[in-house]
Amino acid sequence: MRQAGLIVYKAHQAVLPWIKPGVSTHELDDIIESAIRKMSATPSFKNYNGFPAASCISINEEVIHGIPSKKKILKEGDLVSIDIGANYKGYHGDSAWSYGCGKVSEETRRLLEGTKASLFEGLKQAKAGNRLSDISHAIQMYAEGLGFSVVREFVGHGIGKNLHEDPAIPNYGLPGRGVILRPGMTIAIEPMINFGRKEVRVLADGWTTITADGSLSAHFEHTVLITETGCDIFTTQGKEE
Ligand code: MG
Ligand code: MG
Repeated sequence: MRQAGLIVYKAHQAVLPWIKPGVSTHELDDIIESAIRKMSATPSFKNYNGFPAASCISINEEVIHGIPSKKKILKEGDLVSIDIGANYKGYHGDSAWSYGCGKVSEETRRLLEGTKASLFEGLKQAKAGNRLSDISHAIQMYAEGLGFSVVREFVGHGIGKNLHEDPAIPNYGLPGRGVILRPGMTIAIEPMINFGRKEVRVLADGWTTITADGSLSAHFEHTVLITETGCDIFTTQGKEE
Protein backbone atom coordinates (compact mmCIF):
# COMPACT_ATOMS: atom_id res chain seq x y z
CA MET A 1 0.00 0.00 0.00
CA ARG A 2 2.92 2.27 0.71
CA GLN A 3 4.17 1.68 -2.84
CA ALA A 4 0.69 2.21 -4.32
CA GLY A 5 0.48 5.49 -2.41
CA LEU A 6 3.84 6.64 -3.69
CA ILE A 7 2.76 5.87 -7.26
CA VAL A 8 -0.35 8.04 -6.78
CA TYR A 9 1.83 10.85 -5.42
CA LYS A 10 4.19 10.57 -8.38
CA ALA A 11 1.27 10.63 -10.83
CA HIS A 12 0.17 13.93 -9.21
CA GLN A 13 3.71 15.27 -9.59
CA ALA A 14 3.78 14.17 -13.24
CA VAL A 15 0.58 16.06 -14.13
CA LEU A 16 1.37 19.19 -12.09
CA PRO A 17 3.42 21.04 -14.77
CA TRP A 18 0.59 20.50 -17.29
CA ILE A 19 -2.07 22.29 -15.25
CA LYS A 20 -2.10 25.45 -17.35
CA PRO A 21 -4.48 27.37 -19.59
CA GLY A 22 -5.27 25.71 -22.94
CA VAL A 23 -4.73 22.11 -21.80
CA SER A 24 -7.74 19.75 -21.90
CA THR A 25 -8.68 17.52 -18.98
CA HIS A 26 -8.39 14.58 -21.40
CA GLU A 27 -4.71 15.45 -21.93
CA LEU A 28 -4.19 15.61 -18.16
CA ASP A 29 -5.83 12.21 -17.77
CA ASP A 30 -3.55 10.73 -20.46
CA ILE A 31 -0.48 11.97 -18.59
CA ILE A 32 -1.80 10.50 -15.34
CA GLU A 33 -2.63 7.12 -16.88
CA SER A 34 0.74 6.73 -18.57
CA ALA A 35 2.57 7.78 -15.38
CA ILE A 36 0.68 5.10 -13.41
CA ARG A 37 1.28 2.38 -16.02
CA LYS A 38 5.00 3.27 -16.32
CA MET A 39 5.30 2.49 -12.62
CA SER A 40 3.80 -1.00 -13.22
CA ALA A 41 0.46 -0.12 -11.62
CA THR A 42 -3.07 0.23 -13.01
CA PRO A 43 -5.48 3.16 -12.54
CA SER A 44 -7.96 2.15 -9.81
CA PHE A 45 -10.74 4.33 -11.19
CA LYS A 46 -10.74 3.14 -14.82
CA ASN A 47 -13.91 1.08 -15.34
CA TYR A 48 -14.72 1.31 -11.60
CA ASN A 49 -18.52 1.14 -11.68
CA GLY A 50 -18.13 2.07 -15.34
CA PHE A 51 -16.06 5.24 -14.85
CA PRO A 52 -14.41 5.88 -18.23
CA ALA A 53 -11.05 7.44 -17.28
CA ALA A 54 -7.97 7.01 -15.08
CA SER A 55 -8.64 10.13 -13.00
CA CYS A 56 -11.48 12.37 -11.92
CA ILE A 57 -10.87 15.99 -12.89
CA SER A 58 -13.35 18.52 -11.53
CA ILE A 59 -13.20 22.24 -12.32
CA ASN A 60 -14.50 25.18 -10.23
CA GLU A 61 -18.11 24.39 -9.15
CA GLU A 62 -17.52 20.70 -9.93
CA VAL A 63 -16.98 18.97 -6.59
CA ILE A 64 -15.86 15.47 -7.58
CA HIS A 65 -16.13 12.79 -10.29
CA GLY A 66 -15.57 15.14 -13.25
CA ILE A 67 -15.02 13.06 -16.40
CA PRO A 68 -11.89 14.04 -18.36
CA SER A 69 -12.84 15.38 -21.81
CA LYS A 70 -11.21 16.83 -24.91
CA LYS A 71 -13.88 19.55 -24.74
CA LYS A 72 -12.89 20.71 -21.25
CA ILE A 73 -10.07 23.21 -21.65
CA LEU A 74 -8.44 24.79 -18.60
CA LYS A 75 -8.60 28.58 -18.27
CA GLU A 76 -6.49 30.99 -16.25
CA GLY A 77 -7.83 31.14 -12.70
CA ASP A 78 -9.61 27.76 -12.72
CA LEU A 79 -9.70 25.64 -9.58
CA VAL A 80 -8.78 22.13 -10.73
CA SER A 81 -9.39 19.13 -8.46
CA ILE A 82 -7.63 15.95 -9.54
CA ASP A 83 -8.39 12.61 -7.88
CA ILE A 84 -6.06 9.69 -8.64
CA GLY A 85 -6.09 6.04 -7.57
CA ALA A 86 -3.54 3.34 -8.36
CA ASN A 87 -3.58 -0.42 -7.87
CA TYR A 88 -0.13 -1.88 -7.28
CA LYS A 89 0.12 -5.66 -6.79
CA GLY A 90 -3.49 -5.77 -5.59
CA TYR A 91 -3.36 -2.85 -3.16
CA HIS A 92 -4.76 0.62 -3.69
CA GLY A 93 -3.66 4.18 -3.03
CA ASP A 94 -6.08 7.12 -3.41
CA SER A 95 -5.31 10.84 -3.25
CA ALA A 96 -7.00 14.00 -4.49
CA TRP A 97 -5.44 17.42 -4.69
CA SER A 98 -6.86 20.75 -5.84
CA TYR A 99 -4.69 23.10 -7.84
CA GLY A 100 -4.93 26.64 -9.12
CA CYS A 101 -4.51 27.09 -12.90
CA GLY A 102 -2.24 30.09 -13.32
CA LYS A 103 -3.14 33.11 -11.20
CA VAL A 104 -6.25 32.50 -9.09
CA SER A 105 -8.66 34.83 -7.29
CA GLU A 106 -8.37 35.58 -3.59
CA GLU A 107 -11.50 33.45 -2.96
CA THR A 108 -10.00 30.49 -4.78
CA ARG A 109 -6.72 30.80 -2.89
CA ARG A 110 -8.56 30.91 0.44
CA LEU A 111 -10.66 27.85 -0.41
CA LEU A 112 -7.61 25.89 -1.59
CA GLU A 113 -5.62 26.69 1.53
CA GLY A 114 -8.58 26.15 3.86
CA THR A 115 -9.55 22.79 2.39
CA LYS A 116 -5.97 21.50 2.48
CA ALA A 117 -5.63 22.68 6.08
CA SER A 118 -8.92 20.93 6.98
CA LEU A 119 -7.47 17.65 5.69
CA PHE A 120 -4.45 18.10 7.95
CA GLU A 121 -6.70 18.96 10.92
CA GLY A 122 -8.43 15.62 10.28
CA LEU A 123 -5.09 13.82 9.98
CA LYS A 124 -4.05 15.14 13.42
CA GLN A 125 -6.93 13.10 14.89
CA ALA A 126 -6.03 9.97 12.91
CA LYS A 127 -4.26 8.00 15.62
CA ALA A 128 -4.75 4.85 17.66
CA GLY A 129 -7.24 5.23 20.50
CA ASN A 130 -9.22 8.04 18.92
CA ARG A 131 -12.64 7.35 17.45
CA LEU A 132 -13.43 7.64 13.78
CA SER A 133 -15.64 10.70 14.12
CA ASP A 134 -12.89 12.63 15.89
CA ILE A 135 -11.45 13.00 12.37
CA SER A 136 -14.84 14.02 10.97
CA HIS A 137 -15.46 16.60 13.67
CA ALA A 138 -12.03 18.22 13.34
CA ILE A 139 -12.51 18.69 9.59
CA GLN A 140 -15.98 20.18 9.97
CA MET A 141 -15.00 22.57 12.76
CA TYR A 142 -12.02 23.85 10.84
CA ALA A 143 -13.77 24.29 7.47
CA GLU A 144 -16.91 25.86 8.94
CA GLY A 145 -14.73 28.10 11.09
CA LEU A 146 -13.47 29.63 7.86
CA GLY A 147 -17.05 30.20 6.67
CA PHE A 148 -17.02 27.30 4.19
CA SER A 149 -19.39 24.31 4.10
CA VAL A 150 -18.83 20.55 4.13
CA VAL A 151 -20.29 18.23 1.49
CA ARG A 152 -22.43 15.54 3.13
CA GLU A 153 -23.19 13.11 0.29
CA PHE A 154 -19.63 11.93 -0.29
CA VAL A 155 -17.19 10.76 2.38
CA GLY A 156 -13.81 9.18 3.06
CA HIS A 157 -13.38 5.43 3.40
CA GLY A 158 -11.33 2.45 4.37
CA ILE A 159 -8.94 1.31 1.63
CA GLY A 160 -6.70 -1.70 0.99
CA LYS A 161 -7.34 -4.63 -1.33
CA ASN A 162 -10.40 -2.66 -2.47
CA LEU A 163 -10.52 1.00 -3.41
CA HIS A 164 -13.48 1.60 -1.11
CA GLU A 165 -13.87 -0.40 2.10
CA ASP A 166 -15.59 0.11 5.44
CA PRO A 167 -15.74 2.30 7.39
CA ALA A 168 -17.26 5.37 5.76
CA ILE A 169 -15.55 8.49 7.10
CA PRO A 170 -17.79 11.58 6.96
CA ASN A 171 -16.18 15.02 7.00
CA TYR A 172 -18.71 16.23 9.58
CA GLY A 173 -20.28 15.05 12.83
CA LEU A 174 -19.96 14.95 16.59
CA PRO A 175 -16.68 13.68 18.07
CA GLY A 176 -16.29 10.41 19.98
CA ARG A 177 -18.45 8.24 17.71
CA GLY A 178 -17.72 5.26 15.48
CA VAL A 179 -15.01 2.63 15.64
CA ILE A 180 -11.89 3.07 17.75
CA LEU A 181 -8.90 3.60 15.49
CA ARG A 182 -6.25 0.87 15.79
CA PRO A 183 -2.70 0.55 14.48
CA GLY A 184 -2.66 -1.08 11.06
CA MET A 185 -5.94 0.38 9.81
CA THR A 186 -5.63 2.05 6.40
CA ILE A 187 -8.05 4.82 5.52
CA ALA A 188 -8.56 7.58 2.96
CA ILE A 189 -9.55 10.94 4.42
CA GLU A 190 -10.96 13.36 1.87
CA PRO A 191 -12.75 16.61 2.73
CA MET A 192 -14.80 18.16 -0.07
CA ILE A 193 -15.36 21.78 0.93
CA ASN A 194 -17.64 24.33 -0.76
CA PHE A 195 -17.16 28.08 -0.77
CA GLY A 196 -20.93 28.57 -0.55
CA ARG A 197 -23.67 26.20 0.56
CA LYS A 198 -23.16 22.49 1.24
CA GLU A 199 -25.74 21.08 -1.19
CA VAL A 200 -24.57 19.28 -4.32
CA ARG A 201 -26.21 17.61 -7.30
CA VAL A 202 -25.12 15.03 -9.85
CA LEU A 203 -25.29 15.95 -13.55
CA ALA A 204 -27.04 13.87 -16.22
CA ASP A 205 -23.77 12.05 -17.07
CA GLY A 206 -24.32 10.19 -13.78
CA TRP A 207 -20.90 11.17 -12.41
CA THR A 208 -20.05 14.87 -12.36
CA THR A 209 -21.10 16.34 -9.03
CA ILE A 210 -21.47 20.13 -8.76
CA THR A 211 -22.37 22.57 -6.01
CA ALA A 212 -26.10 23.33 -6.14
CA ASP A 213 -25.44 27.07 -5.77
CA GLY A 214 -22.66 27.12 -8.37
CA SER A 215 -19.99 28.13 -5.84
CA LEU A 216 -16.41 26.85 -5.94
CA SER A 217 -15.47 23.52 -4.38
CA ALA A 218 -12.11 21.98 -3.42
CA HIS A 219 -11.04 18.42 -2.56
CA PHE A 220 -7.93 17.14 -0.79
CA GLU A 221 -7.32 13.48 0.08
CA HIS A 222 -4.59 11.30 1.51
CA THR A 223 -4.38 7.54 2.10
CA VAL A 224 -2.90 6.91 5.54
CA LEU A 225 -1.91 4.13 7.94
CA ILE A 226 -3.00 4.48 11.57
CA THR A 227 -0.06 4.08 13.98
CA GLU A 228 0.25 4.19 17.80
CA THR A 229 1.26 7.81 17.74
CA GLY A 230 -0.43 9.27 14.66
CA CYS A 231 -0.61 8.34 11.02
CA ASP A 232 1.76 7.60 8.17
CA ILE A 233 0.75 9.30 4.94
CA PHE A 234 1.22 6.87 2.04
CA THR A 235 0.32 9.27 -0.79
CA THR A 236 3.26 11.60 -0.30
CA GLN A 237 7.01 11.65 -0.45
CA GLY A 238 7.58 13.08 3.00
CA LYS A 239 6.95 16.73 2.27
CA GLU A 240 3.63 18.23 3.32
CA GLU A 241 2.13 17.43 -0.07
MG1 MG B 1 -9.87 9.80 -4.33
MG1 MG C 1 -11.21 8.26 -1.94
